[in-house]
Amino acid sequence: MKQKKKMSLTIKVLLGLFLGVGFGILSNIVLEPQLNKEIVRWVLDPLGNVFLRGIKMIVVPLVLCSLICGTASVGDIKKLGRVGIKTLLYYTFTTAIAITIAMVVTKVISPGVGGQSLIAGATEFKSSKAPFIMDVFVNMVPTNPIESLVKGEMLQIIVFAIIFGISITLIGKKAKPLLDVVEQINEVLLKIIGIVMLFAPVGVFALISKVIMLQGVDVLTKLIKYALTIILVLAIQAVVVYGLALKFLGKVNPVKFYKKFWPVMVLGFSTSSSNASIPMNMETCEKKLGTSQSITSFTIPLGATMNMDGTAIMQGVATIFISQVYGIPLTFTQLLMVVLTATLASVGTAGVPGVGLITLSMVLQQVGLPVEGISLVLGVDRILDMIRTAVNITGDASATVIMSKSENELDLDVYNS
Ligand code: ASP
Repeated sequence: MKQKKKMSLTIKVLLGLFLGVGFGILSNIVLEPQLNKEIVRWVLDPLGNVFLRGIKMIVVPLVLCSLICGTASVGDIKKLGRVGIKTLLYYTFTTAIAITIAMVVTKVISPGVGGQSLIAGATEFKSSKAPFIMDVFVNMVPTNPIESLVKGEMLQIIVFAIIFGISITLIGKKAKPLLDVVEQINEVLLKIIGIVMLFAPVGVFALISKVIMLQGVDVLTKLIKYALTIILVLAIQAVVVYGLALKFLGKVNPVKFYKKFWPVMVLGFSTSSSNASIPMNMETCEKKLGTSQSITSFTIPLGATMNMDGTAIMQGVATIFISQVYGIPLTFTQLLMVVLTATLASVGTAGVPGVGLITLSMVLQQVGLPVEGISLVLGVDRILDMIRTAVNITGDASATVIMSKSENELDLDVYNS
């Protein structure tokens, strides 16, 4: 009975997505642009925002509580260290692979060669100062955890939660009542998410039709080669890289994974936010893919903040594209620098819409390309953000399955069901 109800919500979300796309395209063709803007302002924006705010309401407390529980419930510091190191290695490695594929494919397709005319017609981009790369690390340590929570500084919250969880483990029995309370809060938060998700079909409809109504399909056609290059690499990463990882590292059937995981990808796609997808991602991993709770509540919040393969792909393609448009070739050392900085930039990218483009300035600056180059790709980024977010969260879920399997904590009956 419960299963049936869940299925129908998934179908409703998909329906919301298709209807939203249809409605967006239709209004773009039939209605005056001014009327489109008014519909967005009065109907779609409020509906989409209520849904997004509903999910965001949960994200900070959920990341805090689930990471504390995740870290503490591993129960053994050695095991925690092992899972932590394996997860970080997997995240870094898949991100580096993603950028490398992105750069090789972009070199081959050369979407930016002969694109000098794009520079004149580019949308204006106000470049803010690129953050210094080492600051990403230093700023991970909060000076005031309450302030981090209030401001939603995810990396700082993660660091604090992990240290808190480790300390609970070290204290042991005496801190058990506290852990019980945090676990109960976690349960309540998951319940709230269930309620918010009932609104997902409408929210997804509003979010997607808004993007199509405001952006139009024509921005895509101008930068079609650039956009297609990114989409191609995103597809390679989502299907081939994660597929192979699941098959050879996780020793599980990748098709089953995708069959069960795609509704979460739809949510990532329509919200463009890894953070907003955390709740559904965790639930799908545990309930449908059979991953263990302690590993899931550790790897998913961590991945949503630190592991952004889709974003790294965009940055790899964009860097080569910009270098081609401006006619500034990059040396091999500079290409290696791009791999390194884009991997770090993906750690520093918050899991919310559009941030990948801001951290791209860090990569461009590092290799001496003009930061204004971002203005070239600004027009299509909204749509690409949606697709890359779906890939970002798939990476996190694949890691969760692989880590659970490697710790003998994957329920294969659930996974294969
Ligand atoms: N929207 C992406 C995410 O939340 C981040 C980005 O690439 O802008 O995963």
